[in-house]
Amino acid sequence: MIKVVALDADDTLWHSESRFQATQARLSEILDRHAPHDQVQTHLHELEVRNQKLFGFGVKGFTLSMIEAAIEISDGEITAGEIHEIVMMGKAMLDAPMELLDGVRVTLVELAEAYPLMMITKGDHMDQYNKIEKSGLAGHFQEIEVLLDKDVASYDEIFARHNVDPREVMMVGNSIPSDILPILELGGHGTFIPYHVTASFERHEQEPDSPRYHRLARIDQLPRLLNHLNGGE
Ligand SMILES: [Mg+2]
Repeated sequence: MIKVVALDADDTLWHSESRFQATQARLSEILDRHAPHDQVQTHLHELEVRNQKLFGFGVKGFTLSMIEAAIEISDGEITAGEIHEIVMMGKAMLDAPMELLDGVRVTLVELAEAYPLMMITKGDHMDQYNKIEKSGLAGHFQEIEVLLDKDVASYDEIFARHNVDPREVMMVGNSIPSDILPILELGGHGTFIPYHVTASFERHEQEPDSPRYHRLARIDQLPRLLNHLNGGE
């Protein structure tokens, strides 16, 4: 029986990665005279991976990585005006209006009638809590957890703290490594709902081979899947 439904937030409840990709594309344009666009993207990605241990996941760390990439790629030629534009791009991302994915609100209302809901997201705390507040969705959730990283140990710790058996959890999200693999390892269910773009560090080539792994195209298909798994029609 599935008794608890846990949901990721970025690119599961609201749009996020599409903004990062649009900003990265603009960075390539700013650095156009110094390097080809794909080289800018590759270098930025390498820096993001390297900086993650120091900055965590979030717009502030991403902005610093963009500045670092711009200075290195331009060999120190980037102007103060261009660095200012990069900082403004980061601030615009933090300040952007919240856009929920289609069907999120009605689905949460329906799910909350039958299950306790948990939001499990990761990233910079200030950034994530601002988004949670802007989303207006907090009231649907019994628990909201903002993690620095999503791995087996962090999920295990959360479920133990809330007295939830992970084998009775359905975790829903757009990242196979962050949202799906850990819950499968803990004996629970995972539903992968792909977003139209995936962050480079959330990409995963192969879909898990498990009867507890599910894949849906849209979040509004979730109540029916849960009903079916719990023995309904
Ligand atoms: Mg996500």
